[in-house]
Amino acid sequence: MKKIAILTSGGDSQGMNSAIRAVTRSGLANNFEVYGVRRGFKGLIKNDFIKLGTKEVSDKLYRGGTFLQSARSETFKTPEGQAVAVENLKAKGIDYVVVIGGDGSYRGAQALKRHGIKTFGIPGTIDNDIPLTDFTIGFDTTLNLVTELVGNLRDTMSSHERVSVIETMGRNCGDIALQAGIASGVDAILIPEIEPDIEKIAADVKAGFDRGKSHSIVIVAEGAGNADDVAKKIKERSGLDTRATVLGHIQRGGSPSSFDRVFSSRLGHRVIELIQEGVEGVGLGMEHNQITYHTFEEIFNAKNKIDKKLYQVFEDLV
Ligand code: ATP
Repeated sequence: MKKIAILTSGGDSQGMNSAIRAVTRSGLANNFEVYGVRRGFKGLIKNDFIKLGTKEVSDKLYRGGTFLQSARSETFKTPEGQAVAVENLKAKGIDYVVVIGGDGSYRGAQALKRHGIKTFGIPGTIDNDIPLTDFTIGFDTTLNLVTELVGNLRDTMSSHERVSVIETMGRNCGDIALQAGIASGVDAILIPEIEPDIEKIAADVKAGFDRGKSHSIVIVAEGAGNADDVAKKIKERSGLDTRATVLGHIQRGGSPSSFDRVFSSRLGHRVIELIQEGVEGVGLGMEHNQITYHTFEEIFNAKNKIDKKLYQVFEDLV
């Protein structure tokens, strides 16, 4: 009987649990023995495995976070740490490892592959910053959440005739800010991929109030600056009452959206199909609504790009 282990690593995202459930249930249906590794690569080093049956993954599909828990492990980046992890996997007779996480976690998966372990990557991060997939699991849920929170801020900003500067997550990727900004009809979006013009933003915000607007919303991706700085600059230039809000970790929680549940189910299911097709050493994703895969090298060599056309949509509609 073939053995497969699943781990979640790096920052958690909504939909990781549904991906674990999908790999587990598809694996069990195809006579695999399935294990969960607790706390990502740290758990591989600590030999912290739990056997997963169908019951262990019931009631998980709609829960945020990851019930296997996630961690960052500096030790795993070292040859010594990796040697211990590989030894533990071999001692357990594990043939395949599924790593659910972001870019760093994919590098960990590639390291295991170099040691002869057959690995798969499932893109689990809210940031949407993994190349060669249109989405990462958690991104859609976060987008919906941020759009709702921006709406809440709009209500109170409007009552008090204020400018709201809202900082979103996303590391060096502006996708959350850009898409939530379009979905919320905000007045300005600052993303790391495009040099911001703070003078113009402040002037536009001021002009909006002069035309009779009762509020203004500016979204800043964390990679483009911080909300306090941007709010200060807008206040200095416009004289308007400007407030900063950092949304923070609230963006990473909550029940996954229907899209993320279906997407992660498709990815997890496809891993087991790929094993049967003899494919391994790849990261999965979705392109043009098809589940696709690429080698880790291809993914690392590709560049994650902002959708310039989408930015144009924002600029033309603002
Ligand atoms: P997120 O984008 O949500 O932060 P991530 O997967 O990019 O997720 P990282 O902290 O970069 O998060 O990586 C998670 C873990 O992957 C690290 O703690 C480490 O154990 C492992 N890892 C990262 N880079 C490497 C590497 N170059 N070699 C081996 N392992 C790595």
